[in-house]
Amino acid sequence: MAASATPDSASTQRIVIENCAIATVDADDTEYATGHVVVAGNTIESVGAGPAPTGLANVVRRIDGTGHLATPGLVNTHHHFYQWITRGLATDHNLFNWLVALYPTWARIDEPMVHAAAQGSLAMMARGGVTTASDHHYVFPRGAGDLVGAEVRAAAEVGVRFTLARGSMDRSEKDGGLPPDFAVETTEGALLGTEEAIDRYHDASFGSMVHIAAAPCSPFSISTELLREGAALARRKGVRMHTHGSETVEEEKFCHELFGMGPTDYFESTGWLGEDVWMAHCVHMNDSDIEAFARTGTGVAHCPSSNARLAAGIARVPDMLKAGVPVGLGVDGTASNESGELHTELRNALLINRLGAHRESALTARQALRLGTYGGARVLGRADEIGSLEVGKLADLVLWKLDGLGHSTIADPVTALVFGAAAPVTLSLVNGRPVVEGNHLTRVDEDTIARNARAEAQRLARTAAAG
Ligand code: ZN
Repeated sequence: MAASATPDSASTQRIVIENCAIATVDADDTEYATGHVVVAGNTIESVGAGPAPTGLANVVRRIDGTGHLATPGLVNTHHHFYQWITRGLATDHNLFNWLVALYPTWARIDEPMVHAAAQGSLAMMARGGVTTASDHHYVFPRGAGDLVGAEVRAAAEVGVRFTLARGSMDRSEKDGGLPPDFAVETTEGALLGTEEAIDRYHDASFGSMVHIAAAPCSPFSISTELLREGAALARRKGVRMHTHGSETVEEEKFCHELFGMGPTDYFESTGWLGEDVWMAHCVHMNDSDIEAFARTGTGVAHCPSSNARLAAGIARVPDMLKAGVPVGLGVDGTASNESGELHTELRNALLINRLGAHRESALTARQALRLGTYGGARVLGRADEIGSLEVGKLADLVLWKLDGLGHSTIADPVTALVFGAAAPVTLSLVNGRPVVEGNHLTRVDEDTIARNARAEAQRLARTAAAG
């Protein structure tokens, strides 16, 4: 794998990290109480117990990781960046009421708003150890500018790896859907926009910083034709497919009324189960739905905080894992999960799944860490490149500080990371390059991003109020 990385002058420069605990999240869950990681260029050259090998050439940086845990970078599998500028609204609503309350505002977004919101969403996640982010963007008002380009630009500015799921909606109220007529695209326009995004930005090479996926929004906002044609387009182009599925009882009822079957059967009938598909939520799944996901290799983006915020229910993650379903974690949009963090979702996933299964070991700390790293990499189709600390994989890793007030009395580092408070990030590398140092972003200024996002949120509120 390393041999296919792009050779450049930096490729032989080495960063050595020593004296830290390491959770590799490899297939055997290998851990080292005290170990080292050597990064050469953009890949991992060595990982193991004790100090790094001696005699390494071109070491540009040597880091003492005492008191820290090194893990793979976190991978977020579901988000809606634009919602960063509509946080804290419709706070006591269920999914359908919440959507209906927010659609009119969302239909007013434009390119500068989406850019500011994407920067805010990405900065918040990156500061908490996310090294690969994905976004599901499905609101494309006419004349709004280049929204796809705005998101790709923001990811490059913050410095994280990015999968943009180019979403779409074409079933509005007049066709029995939930969104108002002014908030949707035509079927043809949605497919054309998706194809353009793929042709312009999708890079399938090893170490790629941008992937594009085809991503119609949800059964109650898209036509059957868009689902079918979207799947055909994605498979013709060789990109992944993403959508929302089985989020609420209301959605299940909608599918039975309109299509005469539940969401999973409907997705299967339209070509939307498969190894190249991942779906957000999957809360209301019966045994046969879980079996269908396992049989087809369909992935799940588990979003525990959002599901709790909207009272959607608790996904059966322990049963999914037992059946062999690939599962990753998702923040979901920050209009339904205002914190916008992924590292705290490790803990939330663990707690909520124990409640859901009524079982104290339903999800362990190590399983939670795996969901947030390797599980996410698998769901995004990148398990050969990221998601675990292994020789030849990309150098996307996080050094968590665990010797401070929040964690110093918890002996086991993985327990400290998952059960404890949100851990400070001393260093986060993407492609071997620092994105976070000393709990601060290195490429962008957090205060500037916060100010810009606030200004754009206020502009959106004014535009929406003006009708
Ligand atoms: Zn979502």
